[in-house]
Amino acid sequence: MASFDAAAILGRLAALREADAPTHGGRVLSYVYDSGMPEIDELAAEAMRLVQPVNGLDPTTFTSVAVMEREVVGFARELLHGGDDVVGSVTSGGTESCLLAVKTARDVWRAAGGTGTPRLLAPVTAHAAFQKAAALFDLTLDLVPVDPRTGRLDVSRLIERIGPDVALVVVSAPSYPYATLDPIEVVAAACEDAGVACHVDACIGGWILPFWRAADGSALPAWDFRVPGVTSVSADLHKYGYAPKGASVLLQRGRDRQRRQYFATTGWPGYPVVNSTLLGSKSAGSLAASWAIIQALGARGFARLAESCRRATRGLQDIVGDIEGLRVLGDPTGPLLAVTTDESLPSERRIDPHHWADRVRRRGWVLQLQPGLVQPDGTRLPHTTHLTITPVTEGRIDELEAALRGAADEARGVPPVDADAVLASLPGDLLAGLAAGDVELDSATAAQLLASIGLAGGATPGLPDDQAPLLALVSALPRPITERLLTELLARAVEPPDA
Ligand SMILES: *Cc1c(COP(=O)(O)O)cnc(C)c1O
Repeated sequence: MASFDAAAILGRLAALREADAPTHGGRVLSYVYDSGMPEIDELAAEAMRLVQPVNGLDPTTFTSVAVMEREVVGFARELLHGGDDVVGSVTSGGTESCLLAVKTARDVWRAAGGTGTPRLLAPVTAHAAFQKAAALFDLTLDLVPVDPRTGRLDVSRLIERIGPDVALVVVSAPSYPYATLDPIEVVAAACEDAGVACHVDACIGGWILPFWRAADGSALPAWDFRVPGVTSVSADLHKYGYAPKGASVLLQRGRDRQRRQYFATTGWPGYPVVNSTLLGSKSAGSLAASWAIIQALGARGFARLAESCRRATRGLQDIVGDIEGLRVLGDPTGPLLAVTTDESLPSERRIDPHHWADRVRRRGWVLQLQPGLVQPDGTRLPHTTHLTITPVTEGRIDELEAALRGAADEARGVPPVDADAVLASLPGDLLAGLAAGDVELDSATAAQLLASIGLAGGATPGLPDDQAPLLALVSALPRPITERLLTELLARAVEPPDA
């Protein structure tokens, strides 16, 4: 007899899970990627269970890991049109794939004689994971502004910044914020001419764009290893590979380039350490799940799910386009889109995308609010609302449409949150002190500020129902303060209660 009450333990977990946002059914249009095939989830769970005790650290001891990784990389390489010189790794997710692409490029750059601090050059729409990479691996971020109306990169503005101190240029297929497919052929050609590495971040697109067509039915411009100057591509299995979280692929062109991704040392009295990724001991669970899903779906299965996403995305683009006061930003490629205000209308007919998202949420659908951003050239990217479309969306598009339209009717004419008014509601002496550098934003002060906004955190993490005011604050406060406050919010969410 067990010395513990498994039913009680799991019962509590089940109760906690009840409070989570729904992971299935398409009600959350970000974070989760529901294939709509319960048998795929079951297969993944079984596969994870089979490798539960395995240590992915050492594929020579646990040879199943080597076989699965080899087969997943092989499938990805074929999908992304890589030749025999394209090799790769399965990582724990998009961020890790991006980090490793940057680390590799930096070390290749150094090996070629680069000294000092290298630059990482990318459109401002490149994923934040590259900001993290630049911070961790000591590169200077050089972000190129995009067109505030379309989210598109003026490619000459990026190319003119390529130079010998650039270790890596990053482009997206597509970008997360606006689903822009960057002009990869042109950028990669310029990189090749300059001898600079070019990473295609296909974290979100990698497992679905191979099956995507443009709005007019034509093929997409080449964005993968068919493009000669592309040196690496990241593609997340835990997005449109429908795998549980913890899996992504990083492919690199050239064995010698890829070997610089590795860390190896025999310089300690323990076992020789040879790591392809950032972690040491690691789970093989998400790898096994991804591998099993690939066997089950094959290219045909992925293509069928992609078609469903494509129809639903087209449908949603038409619906949003038909809602007076809103517009889809730019020309999205792939199963995601950003919605913003139609500024061509008078203010009483405009819809603020964040007020809209808050009202959609009250109807049971969770969209993702994206803040506006002042670009390096001073132009302002509008605040938007993001939708990621998954295969379950198509079957519920009528319900979703009703929520989107109903919320739009409620939000039309409601002015955007006045950021200055939100700022004025904060303790002015504290803000002035912070601005003057007289007050240090330590943990206690940050908590006090959070409390004054009504975000005390603590025992019950969770955001307010209406997020528009919070996002307005994110844009209005100086960035270091916002970043520190959000850190405090998240840190306190996992702190044990005071004794
Ligand atoms: C999701 C995403 C990432 C980061 O991936 P995580 O899996 O969340 O770590 C990077 N780039 C793009 C374009 C993404 O969509």
